[in-house]
Amino acid sequence: MEVTIRKTKVSIIQADITKQATEAIVNAANPSLMGGGGVDGAIHRAGGPAILQECKRIVARQGKLPTGKAVVTTGGNLKARYVIHTVGPIWHGGGGNEGELLRSAYYECLKLASVNKLASISFPSISTGAYGYPVGEAAEIAVSTAVSFLKEQATSLREVVFVVFDSRTYQSYCSALQVYLDGSKA
Ligand code: ADP
Repeated sequence: MEVTIRKTKVSIIQADITKQATEAIVNAANPSLMGGGGVDGAIHRAGGPAILQECKRIVARQGKLPTGKAVVTTGGNLKARYVIHTVGPIWHGGGGNEGELLRSAYYECLKLASVNKLASISFPSISTGAYGYPVGEAAEIAVSTAVSFLKEQATSLREVVFVVFDSRTYQSYCSALQVYLDGSKA
């Protein structure tokens, strides 16, 4: 599924994010930036040791990465030139500001990509794996954050891709984007 918002194409695809050729891919990291399971492990495996080396330097300089923030490293051996690492919230039932933190994670990545004048970025479904965030709600936040960013901010981005792994997540993201389309027609 695909829409255009101002000058930026927004699409949702079911694929492996480590194979994406956008200028940056986003990693759903944890605060240590030392790698882990899920998409984080897959990105480090595919990108090679240069990514971890840079992550270690970042942590030595500024400490652990707080939830909702983002940093950029090389993409190492990936097709993507850069990896933008962000930390989504762990789902604790919704009362712990999870929504705002997830919104912030997407927003900080879009901002960092724009500051670095990047043309394209791919996102995984942040927080909906090991971190347990309900997929329907997370999809709504992911899509609405990107749509409002693209409507409101001047950006170099011409392409934003949500790269999801399974069909249930794919359906949730498409429904969220459809809500935006229906809303913009009204
Ligand atoms: P978190 O800890 O933020 O929940 P996970 O990596 O556990 O992150 O899961 C986030 C999402 O990424 C899940 O939907 C998972 O299925 C998906 N995922 C795992 N590996 C990949 C991959 N190679 N490409 C795209 N998505 C992936």
